[in-house]
Amino acid sequence: MAKREYPSGNLMAGKRGLIMGVANKNSIAWAIAEQLAAQGAEIAFTYQGEAMERRVRPLAESLGAKIIMSCDVTDDASMDALFGAIKEEWGEMDFLVHSVAFAGRDQLAGSFIDQTTREGFKTALDISAYSFVDAARRSAAMMSEGGSMVTMTYLGSERVVPNYNVMGVAKAALEACTRYLAADLGPRGIRVNAISAGPIKTLAAAGIGSGRHMFRFNKATAAMQENTDLEGVAGAALYLLSSLGTSCTGETHHVDGGFHAIAMPQEGPLKASLGID
Ligand code: NAD
Repeated sequence: MAKREYPSGNLMAGKRGLIMGVANKNSIAWAIAEQLAAQGAEIAFTYQGEAMERRVRPLAESLGAKIIMSCDVTDDASMDALFGAIKEEWGEMDFLVHSVAFAGRDQLAGSFIDQTTREGFKTALDISAYSFVDAARRSAAMMSEGGSMVTMTYLGSERVVPNYNVMGVAKAALEACTRYLAADLGPRGIRVNAISAGPIKTLAAAGIGSGRHMFRFNKATAAMQENTDLEGVAGAALYLLSSLGTSCTGETHHVDGGFHAIAMPQEGPLKASLGID
């Protein structure tokens, strides 16, 4: 993969924030981190357990991060330790990026009605939606001068995508959480938005059945007839997290090459993607 280039500048100079959800260099959270760092941000990182540390620590260190901590969002003690460390080191923070989601593999293949279990539902909603509320509450307590928060969502919240199943329900909840958080935190000068990205090849995306079909269909259908670039997602995050995004809150912003806007794709590319003459 070619090294990605991000516009440099000082839009985030003097800003400090937390990015949750880097697993490796393909993670959406990592693209956002690179973009924010190129604009002068100081970033704290989390990784999910020791297995992830090996990949995440060198990446975080390459951006000069001082706070690099293990965090499992389902574990209150680990959230307490993370936010306690940020409070001690920084006192205040300016931004939060929540790029965390999970549903069991068994939930993400086959029909929604048959695959969705009570435990699977609870886990998906807890990790993928509630964790944003929890992280937002803890972050807002350190944003006395205002701030900005961004979470990552997907179109499967609004419309049915095969195999996305309970994760679509979790993303619908996440988008609703974004609006409620925006209303609660608006008076304190804190903006809260979601980015709805098109499919991108990451570790999380690999867990969803029919991935290959999804990428081909997306490319054929999207207004731009291409798959989503990480640079575009990172750029949208920069806009929403910096002063460029002033007055924008409670929004779900699509960065998907216009896929969400299309009701019927062009015949030629669609046939090609489905292998039909
Ligand atoms: P990724 O696998 O790189 O990132 C997912 C992250 O979630 C990982 O870092 C993982 O460690 C973390 N995570 C999962 N369970 C956790 C837990 N209990 N505690 C702490 N962290 C936990 O994949 P990604 O595609 O970069 O996903 C980031 C976000 O973007 C997710 O919310 C995902 O749903 C969303 N998204 C992805 C796509 C896509 O096509 N890749 C499209 C739209 C939205």
